[in-house]
Amino acid sequence: MRLQILGCCGGSTLGKHPTSFLVNDTVAVDAGAITAMLPPHAQEKVDHVVLSHAHLDHVANLPFLVDNRFARQTKPITIYGSKVTIDDLSDGMFNNRVWPDFTVLKNKKSISLTLRPVKAGEPFTIDGLRFTAYPMEHPVACFGFLIDDGTSSIFIAGDTGSTESVKKVVAGIDNLRAIIVEASWPSRMGDLAVATGHLTPRMIRDALPFHPEAKLLVTHVKPFFFHEVVGELMGFALPNTLILDDGMEFDF
Ligand SMILES: [Zn+2]
Ligand SMILES: [Zn+2]
Repeated sequence: MRLQILGCCGGSTLGKHPTSFLVNDTVAVDAGAITAMLPPHAQEKVDHVVLSHAHLDHVANLPFLVDNRFARQTKPITIYGSKVTIDDLSDGMFNNRVWPDFTVLKNKKSISLTLRPVKAGEPFTIDGLRFTAYPMEHPVACFGFLIDDGTSSIFIAGDTGSTESVKKVVAGIDNLRAIIVEASWPSRMGDLAVATGHLTPRMIRDALPFHPEAKLLVTHVKPFFFHEVVGELMGFALPNTLILDDGMEFDF
């Protein structure tokens, strides 16, 4: 399984893009940075977008991906998410006010957009990848996704204020290679983290180990606190842990 980090920031600033991961070139998990990080020919391969939730830092590039591809595409883009997330997109984004309703707009070949609700615990397959959604703890309904290609699997936890909900998912998964987990705020701002459904470095440290073998990949640091959060994480010297950066690539 090939994983590209398009964006791993819990916000947006110069050189740091909001959350988006690309798996095997064709499936994006979250859409914060698809069009900002990929050239047109690579955007044309992204036929599937799996969303943890509809907060803007996870969907910011979605309207542009759909619009960029619309005139030339020969098959629809499919977007997957919880019913709440899909409803949020229909009501708040593709509503013919903020952006056209691409689910009914047709180009010469086809409809451009398919919205597909998925349920927690019911696996679905995209291009040979088996996805299973798990609810996370966040102020809005948010899914983490276990992605398994038959040989290895990774868990992208989405936004979560609970390390326990992550540990529950990954327990006992033998072929798990990586867990992508957030650390949004510095530990001194733990109250804010709890109130907003996010984690801090100390919460991650106190929850270790998440899994006996899987690498911990840390994401979603708030941009104005980047150096403080990274400094904390490095100070803890957490084993088998890496702080993500936009543009990184992995093979699992
Ligand atoms: Zn977020
Ligand atoms: Zn969020």
